[in-house]
Amino acid sequence: MVDLLKANTKKAAEILKNSKYTVAFTGAGISVESGIPPFRGKDGLWSKYDPAILEINYFYENPGKSWEVIKDIFYNFLGKAEPNNAHYVLSEMEKKGLLNAVITQNIDNLHQEAGSKTVFEFHGNSKVMLCTKCAKKYKAEQVDLNKLPPKCDACGGLLKPDFIFFGEGIPQDAYLNSFAEAEKAEVFLLTGTAGLVQPAASVPVKAKQNGAVIIEINPERTAFTEEITDVFLQGKAGEVMTLLRQILFQK
Ligand code: NAD
Repeated sequence: MVDLLKANTKKAAEILKNSKYTVAFTGAGISVESGIPPFRGKDGLWSKYDPAILEINYFYENPGKSWEVIKDIFYNFLGKAEPNNAHYVLSEMEKKGLLNAVITQNIDNLHQEAGSKTVFEFHGNSKVMLCTKCAKKYKAEQVDLNKLPPKCDACGGLLKPDFIFFGEGIPQDAYLNSFAEAEKAEVFLLTGTAGLVQPAASVPVKAKQNGAVIIEINPERTAFTEEITDVFLQGKAGEVMTLLRQILFQK
């Protein structure tokens, strides 16, 4: 198993070195080693919280109740997470010209905190808050969450985290840029995504249809593995990326 991973990682490193345009596509799994659980599964967030809290209509009808849970999940808990090796390796690859962009479904800002510059956030970002009335944006740490729901200091409107709730559309810029990247890419590096959330899961499929080679890192086989993956690196993101880094950057 270890030998297979090593052989496949060497193969992936060669593909990455020869690629003129590489895009990483990441999901909840890349942040698991930072202590953030995915949504689904045994220890997933939905085993503890009711996802209805994050439905957009519920939020507008019950902002106080919704905010109590949002504060608990996204600010008391996830807000303290730090990037792990996998985020850092992607940032180093970008600096060294081996990665052109990251498309992430995550809302945790950890790619940017690790130093990645070109990041398209398909589902928004929890570290920014937005006034639902006048659209003023705030850094999350500037907003006082002792009194819920938080209000805009400019117009008194209700503040909402700048990520999409169930029932909301994908931010247009991120959507268009992600599909444009899928058309350009020679290689797509999927990490930590089950491929079950649409329309995000269509982005790597589009890349494959345009001829991209698909490398996938995940401890489990996913919806992508049988359908589009060319090189499967079975393991945790931080561990596999560390191995990949050693092979890519060894003297
Ligand atoms: P998912 O929850 O559907 O799947 C997570 C995937 O990560 C699984 O395939 C699992 O096998 C894999 N995984 C688990 N541990 C891993 C590890 N150590 N290394 C690599 N992979 C690992 O996640 P998804 O496909 O991203 O879709 C869920 C949606 O939930 C996303 O759209 C995202 O917006 C949101 N989400 C975001 C965060 C975050 O911002 N960190 C956390 C939870 C959910």
